[in-house]
Amino acid sequence: MAECSEAPGDDSLGYSYGIGADVASREDRASHLSHFPRIRLRAPALAAGATAVLIAVTWLAMTGHKATAQQTAAQQVSYSGAIPRSLPATGVGDDGQATPAAQPADTWKDFTVQRGDTLASLFQQAGLTAAQLLAVVHLKGPVRQLVALRPGDQLRIRSDAQGLLELRYPLDALNTLVINRVGDGLRATVAHVDPSRRLVIASGVLYTSLSSAMQRQGLDYSMVAAVADIFRWRVNFHRDLRPGTSFSVMYQKLYRGDRLIGNGPIVAVQLHIGDRSVQAFRFDGGHGDVHYYDQHGRSLTPSLLRTPVHYIRVSSPFSLHRFDPVVHVWRPHYGVDLAAPAGTPIHAAGDGVIKYIGPAGGYGNLVEIRNFGPYSTRYAHMRRFAKGLHDGSRVHQGEVIGYVGETGEATGPHLHFEIRVDGVPHNPLKMRLPDGSPIPRRERARFEAQIHPLLAALDHVQTGAVRLADSSDHNGAALLPAMN
Ligand SMILES: [Zn+2]
Repeated sequence: MAECSEAPGDDSLGYSYGIGADVASREDRASHLSHFPRIRLRAPALAAGATAVLIAVTWLAMTGHKATAQQTAAQQVSYSGAIPRSLPATGVGDDGQATPAAQPADTWKDFTVQRGDTLASLFQQAGLTAAQLLAVVHLKGPVRQLVALRPGDQLRIRSDAQGLLELRYPLDALNTLVINRVGDGLRATVAHVDPSRRLVIASGVLYTSLSSAMQRQGLDYSMVAAVADIFRWRVNFHRDLRPGTSFSVMYQKLYRGDRLIGNGPIVAVQLHIGDRSVQAFRFDGGHGDVHYYDQHGRSLTPSLLRTPVHYIRVSSPFSLHRFDPVVHVWRPHYGVDLAAPAGTPIHAAGDGVIKYIGPAGGYGNLVEIRNFGPYSTRYAHMRRFAKGLHDGSRVHQGEVIGYVGETGEATGPHLHFEIRVDGVPHNPLKMRLPDGSPIPRRERARFEAQIHPLLAALDHVQTGAVRLADSSDHNGAALLPAMN
């Protein structure tokens, strides 16, 4: 077992988009991306490549549309409670003084919550009673949010001589809490409005950094980071990207009426790097099983990760002939040392079963996973293990199995990581990784039907064979019609 030289790092491989990218903050990743090649563009023609174009895409082919409608129905949950009859006509003043409830019948009163307002004070202003306030507060479910009003919140109340008829309180851009009088009681429901979704495409050419090129096309940091995430196993963002690399990103924008309320997921994305083109399509296999696949239905995530920790640098490379700095003898280094701060989470590189977990000599605290087929992985020098794991535990790719430390023969905190094939160690940074699971056979036809119009759209953007948008929205991305 040879671990842990802090020898000159072999970071030239640039495989820093390990699973750890998932645990880094958006800002971390975004700032990382701003270090993409910053080379001056020589061919001025390329500068003209930043165009947003308008294409008709059959939205009905997209997934998620039906599901949203079903969710809407499911969200119409009611919460009922009794309301006192023959309510005393008193207000809810904290001075205990009764105020007359001279209430004109059936009119809306609108309130904008001010600092210091409470539901009680608003009810008082609306001429409602303490008993009515209690009846509302005792309703279960989303009514909780009413109790924690914030300045700026909007509230509408309609009442008659008997008291509260209806209360409406927007919970967010798409959901409104509605309390109605029904018979002798009150009922709370959440009225949900589906956003309208518009598919937009942002397209451009890199001439300083991918990050800035994308931002010029209205894609924010989180979108840039998402693109890097999607391609992190197919594209080396430090080495491969050159001026002239072009991108097209198709994603959803969510609207309520004409108001943009946020971005939906990236639906398809394409990079052209030299003569090479890489594409990714989002596919929802149901049960929350959403992944990105290439146009052939191959997963963009290999079934084993090269670097199962968000590391700072490679502190010691894989080597079959290496001088060990700790014990000063020549011996091979059967893994790669990934330096990271103590306590950094370590993720399972692939699905599998824990074959060993515990202290193991020079390895320190070690986890060995039998992954699948001939593949197994080892993770050494952990400070501690994730809770609840034991020999025989089943783990999934990306699951946290422990934390970086320097137990065993180690000169600093790092993960010593090995991938073995039939017990023979391979260089995790250079070996060919086993492919991820492809689109299941039964979903194949649905996948192809879904990506067909997207592929056509990406092709058209890339070749410029579509007319330019007459108008684009304020973010510079063209809107694609026929949504929803
Ligand atoms: Zn090592």
